[in-house]
Amino acid sequence: ICWSEWGGWHRPRVQPYGPIQLDPAAAVLHYAQEIFEGLKAYRWADGSIWSFRPEANAARLQRSAVRMALPELPTEYFIESLKQLIAVDGRWVPSAPETSLYLRPFMFAKEAFLGVRPAKKVNYYVIASPAGPYFSGGVAPLSIWLSEDYSRAGKGGTGAAKTGGNYASSLVAQQEAYDNGCAQVLFLDSQEGKWIEELGGMNVVLVKKDGTLVTPDSDSILEGITRDSVLQLAEDRGHKVERRKVSIEEWREGVANGDVTEVFACGTAAVITPIGLLKARDFTVGDADAQAGELTMSLREELTDIQYGRRPDPHGWMTRLDA
Ligand code: PMP
Repeated sequence: ICWSEWGGWHRPRVQPYGPIQLDPAAAVLHYAQEIFEGLKAYRWADGSIWSFRPEANAARLQRSAVRMALPELPTEYFIESLKQLIAVDGRWVPSAPETSLYLRPFMFAKEAFLGVRPAKKVNYYVIASPAGPYFSGGVAPLSIWLSEDYSRAGKGGTGAAKTGGNYASSLVAQQEAYDNGCAQVLFLDSQEGKWIEELGGMNVVLVKKDGTLVTPDSDSILEGITRDSVLQLAEDRGHKVERRKVSIEEWREGVANGDVTEVFACGTAAVITPIGLLKARDFTVGDADAQAGELTMSLREELTDIQYGRRPDPHGWMTRLDA
């Protein structure tokens, strides 16, 4: 779908996948005015195709748009764009267990000019790609690298928006994680270097000995839809949930003294994933070969059962895309 300051949203269409033409002066290539979303289409046992809380992704795309001076795409256009894609390409939604079609809506400034101001011409696209199970051979605990030299986002910055620049600024830290044998990087706040923010592409939750789930509250992290859903499921089961500042010491000492019994990461790609080991330059916490936590695994099962239509959906989270 195209957008211009004078014409609003117009020209919705489905076109064959392929390169898109951009003027070399397109604003996105220079000033990174772009935003995106990530969600999945799931095939249920009866063949029907569903997505999980797409209106939450639409709302987050709108919040990202406001922060990045882009136009807000109405929720109904967002959902319609997914349905139109599925109408043409629904056969690509796989049916093997724990597979899905990953959907990537994105919006960028295509107006050609050199100068710093919001663009007056914007494009919105959705592309898709079949996704296998995140883990082959069972859910394996993640090893996490603590970034002490880099932060992902600062106060007043774009941390809460899903925009490419946040990921660009996390790449050196992510590479450092790989170099240290870890799959993901953990960022702390940029001011005190003390409070847990999030991983490169997932949110973090600690489980306390008394069953309370604790997760960072920060205005510079991405508000994960998986996290919100998992915490809701935990509350439904009677667990206490705390959204507050969480220090790295609370994690470190908690694992050491048994006050923190499980730590997990959550996001669309890996759903819910136990964190086994936290590695920093001069300490490590946990155990790379640790067993996945019991609550972590049962919340994972409950959430994926809802997503794949294997159990009732008490919160009305699923939206049918192929009808
Ligand atoms: N934080 C970051 C930085 C992410 O990229 C993602 C993935 N979108 C998440 C958290 C988790 O968000 P969600 O559960 O909506 O996928």
